[in-house]
Amino acid sequence: AKVLGKNRYYFFDENLNDMLMRRMQLEIDLEKSIAENQLFLVYQPIHCLDTGKRRGLEALLRWKHPTLGLISPAEFIPIAEDTGQIHAIGEWVMRTACAEIKQLQENGMTGSLIAVNVSSKQMEEGFVTIVKEIVEETGLDPTCLELEITESMMQNVDTSMQIIHGLHELGVKIAIDDFGTGYSSFYLLRDLPIDTIKIDKAFIDEIDNEKSLLIVKTMIDIGLNLDLRVVSEGIEHEWQLEALKELDCDLGQGYLFDKPMPIDEWIKK
Ligand code: C2E
Ligand code: CA
Ligand code: CA
Ligand code: CA
Repeated sequence: AKVLGKNRYYFFDENLNDMLMRRMQLEIDLEKSIAENQLFLVYQPIHCLDTGKRRGLEALLRWKHPTLGLISPAEFIPIAEDTGQIHAIGEWVMRTACAEIKQLQENGMTGSLIAVNVSSKQMEEGFVTIVKEIVEETGLDPTCLELEITESMMQNVDTSMQIIHGLHELGVKIAIDDFGTGYSSFYLLRDLPIDTIKIDKAFIDEIDNEKSLLIVKTMIDIGLNLDLRVVSEGIEHEWQLEALKELDCDLGQGYLFDKPMPIDEWIKK
């Protein structure tokens, strides 16, 4: 038992050590990721559920690490948020998305929305100015840009509210991402100029469960009553699509329609 205990301890220790080493390496390497062109964006369309037509694209960040390969934003965004690197990365994402979508518009795709994810850590003074400059620089119509924020941005309520009003004045649209997973949704909807809610994939996954279905129905109804656009995330199966259409959800995203792809592939399409 002693040996087993010792081995177990050793095993655990090694795992923890690996985790810390990987984190430290990512933290250091992230510093060079922009300059060395390792970051890129892929785009996933947002579809009208009735007609199947594309109504917009969401930009999703990717990191091609030189030795570790493709790393998920779910792993490196939280690191960037801890270290403050999220400011440079977030700005790079916004500038690149606006420029690439402008390029797509010049290739004939008009009137489409570009959705960009924004970390709550970016919601600091000066953010509106950054967005304004990027929109002017790239020549993108600001009403084509939608910023996806999560309910957790209410960590800093006053600043966030000011920023959202500032963005609204620019003409930029606001979506609440992962709607239903936070706790302050109703405040946000009541007090802020919100355009869109995005129902989290976790709810859509379980829409065959009666309770989940009723919760999704309620979220869609709130959106429709407040005259918001309602997007369902992570639609993978026909039965989910049928259920959502039945509930009058107007928009959706998911592998059932398209996986995210780089901009050149969308230009070719
Ligand atoms: P999110 O904003 O909720 O994005 C949806 C995620 O679900 C994306 O994962 C997308 O690729 C994935 N997805 C879409 N359709 C399906 C589907 O049908 N099935 C399944 N299983 N997954 C689907 P991704 O690209 O790995 O991004 C993960 C999260 O990382 C995002 O969640 C978002 O919170 C964050 N993220 C991504 N790009 C950025 C960025 O540029 N800035 C910031 N701050 N966060 C980002
Ligand atoms: Ca999102
Ligand atoms: Ca989500
Ligand atoms: Ca999210």
